Amino acid sequence: MAGGKDGVGEVRIKPAELHAFTMAICRADGSSAEEAKLVADHLVLANLFGHDSHGVGMMPSYIQNTTTGRCTRNHHAKIIKDNGAVIVIDGGAGYGQVIAKEAMDIGIERAKKNGVCVVGLTNSHHIGRIGHWAEQCARAGLVSTHWVNVHGHKSLVAPFGGAEPRFTTNPYCTAVPRKGKEPIVLDFATSQVAMGKVRVANNKKVQMEEGLLIDSKGNPTTDPGVMYNPPFGAILPFGLHKGGGLAVICDLLAGALTGGRTHSPRTIKKDGHDIINNMLSIIIDPAAMGGTEFFEDEVETFITWVKSAKPQPGVKEVLAPGEPERARRADREKNGVPIDTTTWQQLVEVARKVRLNDTDIPHTVAA
Ligand code: NAD
Repeated sequence: MAGGKDGVGEVRIKPAELHAFTMAICRADGSSAEEAKLVADHLVLANLFGHDSHGVGMMPSYIQNTTTGRCTRNHHAKIIKDNGAVIVIDGGAGYGQVIAKEAMDIGIERAKKNGVCVVGLTNSHHIGRIGHWAEQCARAGLVSTHWVNVHGHKSLVAPFGGAEPRFTTNPYCTAVPRKGKEPIVLDFATSQVAMGKVRVANNKKVQMEEGLLIDSKGNPTTDPGVMYNPPFGAILPFGLHKGGGLAVICDLLAGALTGGRTHSPRTIKKDGHDIINNMLSIIIDPAAMGGTEFFEDEVETFITWVKSAKPQPGVKEVLAPGEPERARRADREKNGVPIDTTTWQQLVEVARKVRLNDTDIPHTVAA
């Protein structure tokens, strides 16, 4: 994505220290130990997987939102409609890392019982990297597919052919468990890039690749600043009319079908700082369909076949969805998590804001 030698620098920090620091910020802000751990587990894993857009760099927004009441600390998922295999959960703007985990716990239990569970998760504060929730289902041996929208936040992404934003980065995710192996996890924003990656590029003061952003007139630009300084531009949807269509479907399924709300003038908040996610999850037990053994065997046969394709020139290996993240994790576990210095500075400021001592701020090394 973003590159360039004139950007700001990076520091590296050991994952365990980053985890302890993130937990300490949450605890000092008033979260329970359990909530702080879930938030730190989620954000640090996103960094380890290379999705810095959804890593600890989210903490300043989270603390801003707990301070203003847009995110409710120590809140839990509440079932508001129960049809057995179809449930609706209200998140009450609680920390998404708690609410989505609890929603998936319930969905997993129901899917094991009924063969399937459709979970409408509504009104949760930011649920971060959606793969995290699909991986929770996969660890229980279940296939799951997730459609997500965002409201409250200002519009970021233009519809296909549009010169103005009309929704946000609406992620889609499906995970398929494998016997004795890490799952297949396809997890992406339906925008050309996640907004967090624009934030990272803006923090690093680097230009982005062509084809990701438009300016306020709808013309192509590589300047991440168009998302931060008026007149505002927009992020393009991925995959032309197909990705643009998928983004629209995410809002309809996660926002309209679940009873959450779609992204529209009725839900956009004036200051645009809310990050409320709704998610439609369909969790399926392979045992209730072709049978677990059949499923596991077919998954292995198919993935082996797919990966056996001769790589294109310049490509080392054909990878399955989820493999790039695990390769990055191995590297970052060993060499530390790189964080741009602007993001690091913002984290240090937020630590001071919640009155952590300087001794609680970990040492970093220049990357
Ligand atoms: P991305 O463009 O990096 O795509 C990631 C997906 O593509 C992964 O499944 C990955 O395994 C797969 N992939 C990448 N390279 C591959 C290769 N060479 N071969 C095979 N598969 C490959 O992801 P993104 O759009 O930047 O999204 C980043 C994260 O942001 C996601 O985890 C998403 O859930 C999250 N997100 C969350 C929200 C929210 O509101 N909570 C909004 C937007 C995005």
